[in-house]
Amino acid sequence: MKELLRMVNISKQFGDFYANKNVYLTVYEGEVHTLLGENGAGKSTLMNVLIGLYQPTEGEIYLRGKKVRLDSPKTAVKYGIGMVHQHFMLVEAMTVFENIILGVTHDSSFFINRDKLKKEIQELADRYDLEIELDKPVTEISVGEQQRVEILKALYRGADLLILDEPTAVLTDIEVKGLFQIIRKLIAENKSIIFISHKMREVLEISTEITVLRAGQVVKTLKREETTGQDLANLMI
Ligand code: ADP
Ligand code: MG
Repeated sequence: MKELLRMVNISKQFGDFYANKNVYLTVYEGEVHTLLGENGAGKSTLMNVLIGLYQPTEGEIYLRGKKVRLDSPKTAVKYGIGMVHQHFMLVEAMTVFENIILGVTHDSSFFINRDKLKKEIQELADRYDLEIELDKPVTEISVGEQQRVEILKALYRGADLLILDEPTAVLTDIEVKGLFQIIRKLIAENKSIIFISHKMREVLEISTEITVLRAGQVVKTLKREETTGQDLANLMI
């Protein structure tokens, strides 16, 4: 497998407090790499460093072997990193389609090309089994569909590393099945997923590799097949 991301010795301090301390994380192409840890373990902070929302206190980030400086979320998007946050960030007054194209620059022929653009987005959605209704206001769609819109939005911006921060927390069991089907399609096309969860059953089902975080530090990184739920639970606490 080819290395996509390497985070090296990342620390993030808030005042004297270390939310992340000397964290190493390597993610390969076409894998689901899970961050597992209790509340407050530092999972979201590490991902906010990765998308350029926070600057690390120390450490380096490499993408495909090249050192990068992720100074803003815009830069992270340029490098193909997308994140679906725990709390979705869609604009309520807009439709699904408008949310997806928001902030992506289009030329002056945009209005002529609106239908073409819609078709492109629908094709992208179909390719990954993302069931969405482009013309609906986001206030009228389910939470599960809002999540699919966030995923599609990231893919439309060219993400090949997709961070899903506790995506199953807001979903029903059936919706979780649907999400996992989408994740499997994504990795089949060589996308990489960083999946955040503390639900052991899900983690064991979907992960390729698992990194356990505790109190801001990496306890261990394991391949799915070389661990069990009991091992992971012991490492978490
Ligand atoms: P997780 O996502 O694993 O639940 P977080 O990364 O959100 O954990 O938080 C890790 C720790 O860092 C927590 O103790 C949290 O209170 C603290 N923390 C997170 N963000 C900030 C912030 N902006 N300022 C101060 N402390 C923070
Ligand atoms: Mg979190």
